[in-house]
Amino acid sequence: MFDKVLIANRGEIALRIHRACREMGIHTVAVHSTADADAMHVRLADESVCIGPPPASESYLNIPGIISAATITGADAIHPGYGFLSENAAFAAIVEEHGFVFIGPEPRHIEAMGDKVAAKASMQAAGVPVVPGSEDAVRDNDAAAKLADEIGFPVLIKASGGGGGRGMKVVSAPEELAGSIATARREALANFGNDAVYIEKYLAKPRHIEVQIIADSHGHVVHIGERDCSLQRTHQKVLEEAPSPALNAEQRAEIGKAACDAVRKLGYRGAGTLEFLYEDGKFFFIEMNTRIQVEHPVSEMISGIDIVREQIRVADGRPLSFAQPDIALSGHAIECRVNAEHPETFAPSPGRVTDYHPPGGLGVRVDSALYAGYEIPPYYDSLVAKLIVHGSSRNECLMRLRRALEEFVIGGIDTTIPLHQRLVADADFINGSYDIHWLENLVGGEP
Ligand code: ADP
Repeated sequence: MFDKVLIANRGEIALRIHRACREMGIHTVAVHSTADADAMHVRLADESVCIGPPPASESYLNIPGIISAATITGADAIHPGYGFLSENAAFAAIVEEHGFVFIGPEPRHIEAMGDKVAAKASMQAAGVPVVPGSEDAVRDNDAAAKLADEIGFPVLIKASGGGGGRGMKVVSAPEELAGSIATARREALANFGNDAVYIEKYLAKPRHIEVQIIADSHGHVVHIGERDCSLQRTHQKVLEEAPSPALNAEQRAEIGKAACDAVRKLGYRGAGTLEFLYEDGKFFFIEMNTRIQVEHPVSEMISGIDIVREQIRVADGRPLSFAQPDIALSGHAIECRVNAEHPETFAPSPGRVTDYHPPGGLGVRVDSALYAGYEIPPYYDSLVAKLIVHGSSRNECLMRLRRALEEFVIGGIDTTIPLHQRLVADADFINGSYDIHWLENLVGGEP
């Protein structure tokens, strides 16, 4: 097993990875920007290396800086977390070329799934149902018009190299199509350095349901059930739960098996998530994330499996610690993403945290790098804490979540805790009857 792992990330996920390493007897190296010198991930790690100034492009995305830090500290492996370089196939290849282990999939799989239109095609070939739409990137407006007509308006234009819920355009009528494609191409080029776009049927009332899988390099693939991530604003997840209130055990087993079969065909190794839209009893694949996800704790809470620990084990060439029949899902878990944002306007609210009191008690987990006196820098993602609650039933989980949200004190900045309090009191949410548009109808979408 590795002796030392470099964590190429910050915030709560850097702590999460540090914790798994610690419990496995592995030393940790933190990297950080000058803005993060006082950050908790730096304080907890065995060693730390400053890799650049505050902008992520010069620090957390600084590949030579990260490789140098791994070299001078003698790390064996690098865990990329989520965001930043986690889905950068070139980075994974460079890590391996320098003799370190990349804790994630092989570069070829990161690359294959990073091109979303190619990913859909390979999933379709592996027998997974996909959202109807283009089989290739859009070539010209005439072909696009023909395809949109075939699948029926409204359609969605998406960036092939896209991510983070950005750059999607809903088109409701043929005359808007050419203009929207041009805008989508411009935005895709500016944001993702690639102007390829594709067309999908725009589903009116789907749920976002995703399957967590993990595979080793010995041909074993298991799924750890699904997560329902339908509560979104501007295509960004706000709250996630497992299991999905919309699925029964049969549907769960069916989609889990389809996901595992596809991943086995790819020869994939590592943790991954297959994202689906689910409407009228049918699943449609949209994309696969080849990394640990923000919402992985809800699957951990209902399965008792430490997904980050398994990521590290399979990256070291070991077989998975369990087989599918060993995985028993029990009870219900909900995660609230607490962002440093105003709960109604969603304006970012970085600054000094004056008081910090996380909730506790049975079934309550808080993943956060905050502490009283910490100054949240304005340069990075606004996620500052994840509150994850487990109960023996969805109802018990909801009651526990309500009291945990009441206890949670983060002083000095605005947070989205009041938004979560509003959600958990809402009749539709309590009934589990919501789709991907429900939250925006409640609180509004684009500013
Ligand atoms: P990204 O990688 O940018 O996050 P995804 O393809 O995962 O993009 O989609 C993000 C979200 O956008 C989905 O969870 C869903 O809410 C919405 N979405 C994506 N595709 C469709 C579609 N075909 N119809 C309706 N909504 C969609």
